Amino acid sequence: MQRKKIVVGNWKMFTTLHTAQDLAQRIVQEMSQLHFPETAVNALGESIPGGVDVGIAPPFVYLSELAKVVDHHPVLLGAQNLHHENQGAFTGEVSPGMLADIGCKFVIIGHSERRHGFHEPDLFLNRKLKSALLANLMPIFCIGETLAEREAKQTEAVLEYQLDAGLSGITAEQTVHLVLAYEPVWAIGTGKTATPEQAQHAHAFIRNHLAKKFGNDFARVIRLQYGGSVKPENARELLHQPDIDGALVGGASLKADSFMSIVKAAL
Ligand code: PEP
Repeated sequence: MQRKKIVVGNWKMFTTLHTAQDLAQRIVQEMSQLHFPETAVNALGESIPGGVDVGIAPPFVYLSELAKVVDHHPVLLGAQNLHHENQGAFTGEVSPGMLADIGCKFVIIGHSERRHGFHEPDLFLNRKLKSALLANLMPIFCIGETLAEREAKQTEAVLEYQLDAGLSGITAEQTVHLVLAYEPVWAIGTGKTATPEQAQHAHAFIRNHLAKKFGNDFARVIRLQYGGSVKPENARELLHQPDIDGALVGGASLKADSFMSIVKAAL
């Protein structure tokens, strides 16, 4: 099984230009000092490509500047959102083509702050996902249940629905670059982390559901990230669960030291 870990920082709306440049520079510098093994062994004892994919998702307005900082370095640049149309009269929006133009490699879609804070419906997220794939951007598609849904024992039903609706009309061949992020809403920015067992259980459920939808081969290679108050202290245990292939990190990605500790914990 070939599943290289992927750790991505979602900077949300927290940086200035200056702090964003500084943070990106420090990440680039630390990455250049890390020596990744060519191959590694995953939690199942299988040989996989060594190292870890690392990405940063700064605010839209700083992307062009940060593209210069990460250019020719092993740090992927990505956006926190996009519009599904490639052009048109959509005041204030940013298209997939525009993101690709300035050097973005990935885009976060369906973050809970967009699902719940901006009421983005599943149909809309499905369109975004399709247009990101068409533009050759790697989508990081987020799904996850609220606290009320977890307490009502609806976690699996919610995940199933969000997967089916979000991936509707998409084939396994189209999704080679797709990354899925399981982000329980109750764990995002709250300091409450899913236990490694809870996170592993949800990831295994997601992988099994994907196997039913797209086949075992697809389910074995797709990367599933965990997100929700990942910190240097809890990263290693979470990141070494059999079905967890990386982390989507909010708060702890805003400091180079804590972000890079999480990157190193993925190895
Ligand atoms: C996120 O924004 O995707 C996230 C997981 O945030 P935090 O790490 O701060 O919980």
